[in-house]
Amino acid sequence: MANSIWTIEEFTCTGCSMNYTATREEHAEEHVGHFKCNICSSVVHSWSGKHHFFGWQAVKTKPPVFGRRWAGVEW
Ligand SMILES: [Zn+2]
Repeated sequence: MANSIWTIEEFTCTGCSMNYTATREEHAEEHVGHFKCNICSSVVHSWSGKHHFFGWQAVKTKPPVFGRRWAGVEW
């Protein structure tokens, strides 16, 4: 990891307020991509530029309001 810069960033889905984290990695070349919400399929984050994201995952806190909608979400 000596020559790469990783930053963990947090995102919130505008559709259902689910929180996500992803790791941002700086690159010398351009990348384009996006991440979708696991719950409501909204695009939560998209990017283009000299960086890339990986490790997209839901923040593992149990939201008290969603109840059964969480059935079937894979942690
Ligand atoms: Zn959502």
